[in-house]
Amino acid sequence: VSDGYATVMLECGLPWRKIRELLNFNTYNIAGILLTHRHMDHAKGAADAAKSGHDIYASKGTFDVLKVPEHRMKIVAAGCQFEIGTWTILPFETIHDTEGSLGFYMVNTLGEAFLFMTDTGFTKVRFANLHVIACECNFIDQILTDNILSGALPAVVGHRVRRAHMSLKVFIDMLRSNDLSKCSAIHLLHMSSGNADEARMIREIQEQTGIPTRAA
Ligand SMILES: [Zn+2]
Ligand SMILES: [Zn+2]
Repeated sequence: VSDGYATVMLECGLPWRKIRELLNFNTYNIAGILLTHRHMDHAKGAADAAKSGHDIYASKGTFDVLKVPEHRMKIVAAGCQFEIGTWTILPFETIHDTEGSLGFYMVNTLGEAFLFMTDTGFTKVRFANLHVIACECNFIDQILTDNILSGALPAVVGHRVRRAHMSLKVFIDMLRSNDLSKCSAIHLLHMSSGNADEARMIREIQEQTGIPTRAA
């Protein structure tokens, strides 16, 4: 994500050499890499990114399982804001099944806020001045229930998804409880392959908010 001055990488969940390829090796302008939590779909490439000279910003709980060289570790914590270039970033706690998981509320020098939140059952936090939202919209309740009842999804996995990931309903409730008058774009992240319906999610969110929405 960039405000035109500073580019921040959100997560590093592929092998670093793969990420570099996908960016056509244009990684020189990355001012820092944020990790929400330690799960490998978010953190797999972080150690190698650090070894090639990038600072990693994450909680202590996340760094505990990653082999990031110490001088590249920027330990951040919920409620303690920090800066990367022109961005002021406030981490907040997310509700997941691992230690030290965070979401990031980022504000640029114009006061425009960007919300990055994934892998969380819900949030109690309210966010001001939202201009762009990139948030997990993982599953639809009824599809998840049907998949458990049909045996397509083991019940224990289904219950974990319910606790640790955000449903369409919870996402819409979250949107409703924030002031979206300045928001111009919603990006849906971390969508389940089996428990979601991309077209329905986009349609319902656009109907409820009037804001252009797309799935990453
Ligand atoms: Zn996770
Ligand atoms: Zn994840």
